[in-house]
Amino acid sequence: MGFSSRWELVLAGVLLWGGVATAQDKSSGVTVLVNDSAGVKPSVLRRAEREAARLFDAAGIEIQWVNCAETEECRRILGPNEFVLHIVPAGHTASDFVFGEAFLGEDGRGQYSDVFFERLKQEQGDVNLALLLGAVSAHELGHLLLGSNSHSRIGIMEPRWQEDSVQKIGKGMLLFTQEQGELMRKRIQREEDLSVRVRAASKLTRVDY
Ligand SMILES: [Zn+2]
Repeated sequence: MGFSSRWELVLAGVLLWGGVATAQDKSSGVTVLVNDSAGVKPSVLRRAEREAARLFDAAGIEIQWVNCAETEECRRILGPNEFVLHIVPAGHTASDFVFGEAFLGEDGRGQYSDVFFERLKQEQGDVNLALLLGAVSAHELGHLLLGSNSHSRIGIMEPRWQEDSVQKIGKGMLLFTQEQGELMRKRIQREEDLSVRVRAASKLTRVDY
């Protein structure tokens, strides 16, 4: 099986999304709520999370994982810089080449992404499944943090992973570019600043009454 024509990762679906932000006390980094509907082995999921965290850490971003199967913490409205990674058995899109999708609104903002686990398993070849799941998760979360048109010619945001990129995933070497790291960090900071201003404004309103 040749990877070169089989490995594609595209932003398959863009759905309209109405974001609702709540005030949260977060100083840096992002929180990712992981909802596994595909029955991923815990050891694979943990390693995938570690790998995705490592890829983001290399871009200067800290990820805090919340595994929804283990906590009630997921039953709430998402705050700023909080995202959902839903691991599902298969995607709704027709193409076999799609391994995940991120849901962005017209303004390029979004907090929800899906990863299609059965397709990964079918196409993994000799690449470690956990590393692959971690890389696909990082790619989809990258869409949420980078906004529209966030594919790049090189690195983890390549729209199609050719064989050499897949080999790099196996070595943990397919990374975000420096520019992508800067863009994501700025966006996280902007959301944080906005959240602080919203909190301050709501306090003032209460004082006025
Ligand atoms: Zn993509």
